[in-house]
Amino acid sequence: MKTIHVVQSSMPLREEYMAEISDIWDTRWLTHSGPKHEKLSKLLCEYLEVPHISLFANGHLALEAALSRLPVGSEVITTPFTFASTTQAIIHCGLVPVFCDIEPTYMTMDASQIEELITDKTSAILPVHVYGYICNYKEIGRIAHLHKLMVIYDAAHAFGEYIDRVTVGNLGDISMFSFHSTKVFHTVEGGGLVYADGTLKKEYAAWRQFGMYDKEDAEQMGTNAKMTEMHAAMGLCNLRHIEEQISLRCQNAMRYREHLKDISGLYIPPQQDNVEYNYAYFPVLFEKEKFGKDRDMVISDLEKHNIFPRKYFYPLTSKFDICKQKFKIQETPIAEDISNRVLTLPLYADLTIEDVDRICAVLKEY
Ligand SMILES: *Cc1c(COP(=O)(O)O)cnc(C)c1O
Repeated sequence: MKTIHVVQSSMPLREEYMAEISDIWDTRWLTHSGPKHEKLSKLLCEYLEVPHISLFANGHLALEAALSRLPVGSEVITTPFTFASTTQAIIHCGLVPVFCDIEPTYMTMDASQIEELITDKTSAILPVHVYGYICNYKEIGRIAHLHKLMVIYDAAHAFGEYIDRVTVGNLGDISMFSFHSTKVFHTVEGGGLVYADGTLKKEYAAWRQFGMYDKEDAEQMGTNAKMTEMHAAMGLCNLRHIEEQISLRCQNAMRYREHLKDISGLYIPPQQDNVEYNYAYFPVLFEKEKFGKDRDMVISDLEKHNIFPRKYFYPLTSKFDICKQKFKIQETPIAEDISNRVLTLPLYADLTIEDVDRICAVLKEY
C-alpha cells in the first residue's frame, strides 16, 4: 500500500530546473543577490502584489530579521498555536513572548483578548495566519495603531492569499512568508519579508550579510541568511506552476469536505467567505464523545493504513520547556483544547483524488 505523508514537496520537471541553473556554470554567480535572486524578488512582488520583498535563507531567519529591530527585552504578543519557529524567533531575538488565546472558529489570535495583555513593555503583535485562515486584521490593526505597536504577521501558511480583495502581504507592517519545501510555494529552503516601508530593504540586505552595508564595515550585528542562486532558481521554476498547484490542492480539499461533511464528532473548520485560499492545509478536529475515538486513536488507525497525518499544532509552543523555564506563561484554554483534538490530514498537489478517498474511507469506518 502506498505510503501517504502529511505533505509532499512539489517539484518542477528535472529538465526545467536544469535549464534554469545551467548559465550559473558560465557566470559562477552562486549567491549574494545574483540575477536569479533579483528576478525572483521582482516576480514575487508582482505575484504577491506587494511593493517590497527581501529574500532570506529560510522563513525563520526572515522572521528574526523582522523582530531584530524591536527593543531587546520588550514583549511581543503572539499565539501559542503555531509552529516552533514563531515563538523561537521571538526568544532568540531577546524578546519576551506573551501568549494570547485563539478564537475557536478559525484558530487565529483572538483579537478581543489582545488589549488586556498590553503593558508598557509591549512592542509588537505577532499573529499567525494559521493554516491559511486570515487573522482579524482590522481589529488587530486598530489596536496596534491605538497603542503604537508594530504588527508583524507570520504568513508562512498564507502565500498568495487575499482577504476582502486585499493581498495578505499588505496586512500589518511586515509579513513573513516561508518558502520551505513543504509549503505551497517553495525554494527548497527559503523565506521572505514583505513590507510597505522601502527603507527596510537596505537594512535587511545588511542583516542577512553580517550587518554589512558596504564591503568593509559592519555597522550593526547581523547574520548569514542569504538565499542562494540555486534556491532562487527553484523558486523561479515553482512560481511558473503555482496556479496549477493551488488548483490541484483545492480539488483535494473539496473532496475531503464532500466526504467528511456530515460525520458526527468530526469538525472541519469552515472557510472564510471573504478569503481566496491557497489550500495549504486540511485540519480537522475530533470530539471523542460523538466520534467514538479521540485524535490519537485516529492517528494510530490511519498509520495502520500507511497514512501519516500530523498533529499540527501539538503541543502549544507555550508548553515547550524553553518557554516554561524562562517566562511567565499565560493560560490559553481554547488553544489548548484545540491542540489536543486537531489533526492535519495529508494535502498536497500530487495527492490524488483516490488517495483522498482512501484516507476518508478509514475515517468513515467509525
Ligand atoms: C514553516 C513555518 C515557519 C518557518 O519557516 P522555515 O522556512 O521552515 O524557517 C514559521 N512559521 C510557521 C507557522 C511555519 O509553518
